[in-house]
Amino acid sequence: MPKYPLALQQLISSLKMLPGVGSKTAERFAFHLLTWPNEMLEKLGEHVTSVKEKIGTCPQCHCLKDQAACDFCDNSRRNSSLLCIISSPKDAYAIEETHVYNGLYHVLGGLLSPLDGRTLQELNLPHLLKRIATLQIREVIVALDSTLEGDATALYLKEQLSKLDIPVSRLALGLPMGSPLEYVDGGTLSRALTGRHIY
Ligand SMILES: [Zn+2]
Repeated sequence: MPKYPLALQQLISSLKMLPGVGSKTAERFAFHLLTWPNEMLEKLGEHVTSVKEKIGTCPQCHCLKDQAACDFCDNSRRNSSLLCIISSPKDAYAIEETHVYNGLYHVLGGLLSPLDGRTLQELNLPHLLKRIATLQIREVIVALDSTLEGDATALYLKEQLSKLDIPVSRLALGLPMGSPLEYVDGGTLSRALTGRHIY
């Protein structure tokens, strides 16, 4: 990095921590921010510092929520007999955008990856099984990334859920191999949802 004033260097270093932002882009962002009026900078700073305080995690589905109710769990218009298993809270929003799914969600909070030290405990299977029983779920849809970790986790879930005698389906149709769900376009995702197959 050129010898920028210290505060600018610090800002660039922080921006570079964002995914997909390299040195050149971080420098461009930082110089752009210098042209913003103070009140816009203050607003950005305030949004960054307060975002985690203002957002909670639903203790049931582990999706993100505002202060009180969960938009997904506390919503009588949703089909509470369908449960879609996803790996990150962000995936729920990608699925909502397709407008073809109206059931509940369950965020695993990660995928099985023994190499990275992510093991079965982190999937918290007992909590998932309890939800399926309590909510009297009639179909489970496994909507995980089409990657090695996603496949390993889906296989494990299939084994565990097959004991429950409810259909378990997985998104497959048209999902590009090796792609995290968040990078799949809406059209492909909606076809994958409507064309899901029981396995
Ligand atoms: Zn919830």
